[in-house]
Order: sequence, then C-alpha cells, then structure tokens
Amino acid sequence: MHTETKKIIQDSLDALFENETFLPDIPNRTQAFTSLSAILSTPNNIHKSFLRVPLDDESVVRIPAYRVQHNNALGPYKGGIRFHESVNEEEVVNLALLMTLKNALHQVPFGGGKGGIAINPHEYSAKELNAISRKYVRYFSDVIGPDKDIPAPDMGSGEREMDWMMAEYKLIHPGIAYLGSFTGKSVVNGGSLGRREATGKGVYFTFRYLLYDYVKANEELLSKSDNPFAKTTLEIYNRPLKMAVQGFGNVGSVAALEAYNCKLIQHKIVAVSDRNVTLFNEEGLNIPALVDFTKTNDGDLPSTEKQLLDAEVKAEIKDRNSLVTLPVDVLLLAAMENQIREDNMKDVKARIIIEGANAPTTTEADHYFNDKGVVIIPDILANAGGVIVSYFEWLQGRETQFYTEKEVYRLLIKKMKETMDMMLPQYYGDPFALRQNCFIHAVMRLSTVLYHQGKLY
Ligand code: NAP
Repeated sequence: MHTETKKIIQDSLDALFENETFLPDIPNRTQAFTSLSAILSTPNNIHKSFLRVPLDDESVVRIPAYRVQHNNALGPYKGGIRFHESVNEEEVVNLALLMTLKNALHQVPFGGGKGGIAINPHEYSAKELNAISRKYVRYFSDVIGPDKDIPAPDMGSGEREMDWMMAEYKLIHPGIAYLGSFTGKSVVNGGSLGRREATGKGVYFTFRYLLYDYVKANEELLSKSDNPFAKTTLEIYNRPLKMAVQGFGNVGSVAALEAYNCKLIQHKIVAVSDRNVTLFNEEGLNIPALVDFTKTNDGDLPSTEKQLLDAEVKAEIKDRNSLVTLPVDVLLLAAMENQIREDNMKDVKARIIIEGANAPTTTEADHYFNDKGVVIIPDILANAGGVIVSYFEWLQGRETQFYTEKEVYRLLIKKMKETMDMMLPQYYGDPFALRQNCFIHAVMRLSTVLYHQGKLY
C-alpha cells in the first residue's frame, strides 16, 4: 500500500482512538486498534495471473492481470477492472482499499476490490480485447461472482468489456443468476439506465452542492468565519468561474457536460484534455460538440486543426500536461492518479479541485493546497456515483425489475446528498480536513461492523 494511504488511515485510527465515545465497550482498546490497523493496511487476497492471449497476427502474449480483494466485512467485494499500461500490484491494492472505504462512507453494502490488466487498450483490436476480457474471467472465475466479488468498468474499460465478461461468466457457471456478476453492463444486456453517466454526474453534483446549495444555505455563518474554507468558497460563490477538466472519458466528459448544462453556477469550461492534447478557449468550449466528436473517433478529442474544423469547435491546441496549470478557478481531475505532484503543484492556479479520478493529488500537493486555502473535494467523496449506481444495477439484476433513468438519478443524488450533508458541516468546523473527515467516517463505520462481527481482538 502507498505510504501516503497508510498515513491517512493511521491518522484516522489515531483520531478514533482518542475519541472515547467511539466503541467504548472494547475490552482492550490498544489491541483492538492494532488489529484494525493490520486489517485495513492489508488486502484479504491478491490474485495475479499472466493472461495467455493469441493476437490477430497469431503471436501469443502474456499479459499481467490482477484481482485484489481488500475487505468484505460490509458485503461482497466490489470494484472496477482497469485496462491501462501502468497497472501494477501496488496500485491495484491501493485502489481496492479506497473502494472499501468509499463504500463504507456512502453506506453501500459492498466491500472493496479492484482489478487491472496491464495493457494500453488503444493498441489492441476489438477482437483481441474480447479475448483478453474473456481470459480475465476464465483465470479469475473461481473468485468472482454475484455474491463474492462483482467487477465493474474502470479506466480503459466500459460496458462493452463488461458485456463480454458477463457472457464468459455465464458460460463457465451455468445456472447462476449471472446478471449480478458484473455491473456497468449495457442496458440491453441487463445494465442499469444511468450507470454510464453516474460517476460523472455524481462528481459534478458534489461541486454544485458545495458551491451552490451549501454556501447559499450557510452564507451568513461562512461570512462570519475567517477559516480558509469559508473564505475560498465565499470568494468563488456567485461569480463567473473558469473550469478545466482533465480527462475526457467516462467521468470527465459527463462531468463536463453536466457543468456545461448547469445554469445555477456561472461557469465556462475553458479547457479539456485527454492523453493526446489539451484544448483551450478562454470564451468557453463547445462541450456537446466535443462529446459528439469523441463518439465517432474512438473516444479521442480533436487533436489537429482539421479535426477541430470537422468538430466545429474553436480552440487552441496545447500540450496535454499544460491543463493543470492553466489560469482557471476550478480544476476537475478525471484522468488518473498522481497528476498534481510536488513538481507542478506550485503552478496550479485553481482555488477548487474536484477529484473525479482516484488519487490524482499526491499527499505533498494535498498539504500544500490545504495551506494555501485551496478547497479539495476528495475522490472518496466525489467519485462514488459509479459504485452507487452499480449497487442499484446489482439489485435490479437480482430482482429482474428495472428502474427508469429518472428514478436512478433521483436515488443517486439522494445518496450523495446524504453523504455530503453528513460531511460538510463537520468540514465547516474543521477547516481543510474534508478528506481526513471522510476517511475517519469510513474507518469508523467499517470498524464498528468489524467489532460487531467479533473481529477486533
Ligand atoms: P476513461 O473513460 O478511460 O477516461 C480516461 C480519460 O483520461 C481519457 O480521456 C484518457 O484519454 C484520459 N487520460 C489518460 N491519461 C491521461 C493523461 N496523462 N493526461 C490527460 N488525460 C489522460 O476512464 P474513466 O472511467 O473516465 O476513469 C477516469 C478516472 O476516474 C480513473 O481514475 C478511474 O479510476 C476513476 N473512476 C472511474 C469511475 C467510473 O465509473 N468510470 C468510478 C470511480 C472512479 P485517452 O482516451 O486519450 O486515453
């Protein structure tokens, strides 16, 4: 596990240890907290294989693949399968732990898991990706399943891969209620309406709720406070904002579209980026036109003047890494981890950072921003929309009763609002501890269940 994750968990445990009202009946508090630390810092299982896959040119490759099951005290393991060349065991372990805590924080009855396949999906044909996805299921078929471990899409994978994977699972396990084996499937294949958009919608909702509903309702209180959180949110509230979105995939493009369509906050999306390019227009980008372009161009943003003309989008083409340091008020990070680090944090101009991706800000950057009064809406809080709607999909698959899209969004926003309402007032009284508060809360919930299950001795 990353040392920075270890530290935030240990800090949460220390805070809970000091709080004598938390689990007051524990017979040996010191020993119980030592057990907790051990349970949280290690996954239950790490499964690793080298998938043997024949390619279109008839050569055979062996691809590293992982399924990490962190903790299932709150329910079956749950977490996405990432298709990216940077996938490695440590990263998958870290992401699986984050899933355990995310589910605990948002009261989703799942444990935490994560998977990964170390490939750049852009370098493989659809036929090869189909073979890779099916092989993944075959290699891990004994450890996954609707009541054991339920994978979902993550970076580089989507409903197409989940459909293939579920089909393979059904073949291997005839007679099992297979609809609950994978979430993030296409709607025709038993997926939930609204699942594809859920994470991006949820990410944008956390920002809108903080900067519109919460500040509006607490304006007077905040104006009397001199804490940096109050200052930053009030300084930004009710004025025209510039926003940049890093990553224009499942999460980033949906969040950007939500922002584009939201009339409650005056903002323009002046920049978006993907792995190839940053597009910048100070007057605001035409997000619907960019979304349309990506649909017919393998998910890619326009990266040449000709493509911009074809897309009917006015923008300046910049280097992909320049996005995070552009002169904007809000930075929405929806690509991958470690994007804001010690080497670029000082050049970031944004006053609000929204973590759509998992762990896009390193601990050094997190501390730096806290000291500077930059408000961060952390990943554990912001990007849970996907797993929340995955839970609805899993329920619908089990009941074979399907909700309308409107119902899914209503339930999603209700759940995210409940968590926001629980965390924000605490944040107000305890500036710049939103991430820490979320972790404390998640650890508290998980520990309570572990204690009641007799696991803390
Ligand atoms: P995705 O659909 O694969 O999109 C990722 C986007 O990031 C793509 O536009 C990709 O560009 C871009 N990208 C990759 N490397 C980049 C770089 N170095 N600089 C700028 N852009 C880069 O993945 P996703 O599902 O949106 O996931 C994004 C993040 O959100 C991940 O951290 C994931 O773990 C997290 N997340 C996702 C979900 C979910 O439901 N999907 C839920 C929770 C958290 P190319 O298309 O050019 O590769």
